[in-house]
Amino acid sequence: MSSQQNPHSHQAQFDSPRVPRRTPMACQFCRGRKLKCDGSRPSCANCNRRGYPCLYTPV
Ligand SMILES: [Zn+2]
Ligand SMILES: [Zn+2]
Repeated sequence: MSSQQNPHSHQAQFDSPRVPRRTPMACQFCRGRKLKCDGSRPSCANCNRRGYPCLYTPV
C-alpha cells in the first residue's frame, strides 16, 4: 500500500508560439501597394517620389 507520488506530477508548461518580434515598418502607402518601404522618416522613398503623405500606423 504505497501511493506513488510522482515528483514531476504537474509541470506548468506554457507553449508559447515563437513570434518574431521583428515588425517591418512600412507606411500605409507601401503597405497598400505591397511596396518595399525603406521606412525613412518623415517620408519614405516611395511617398517622397510621388509626393504622397507618408503615414506610419503604430501597432
Ligand atoms: Zn513607404
Ligand atoms: Zn511612405
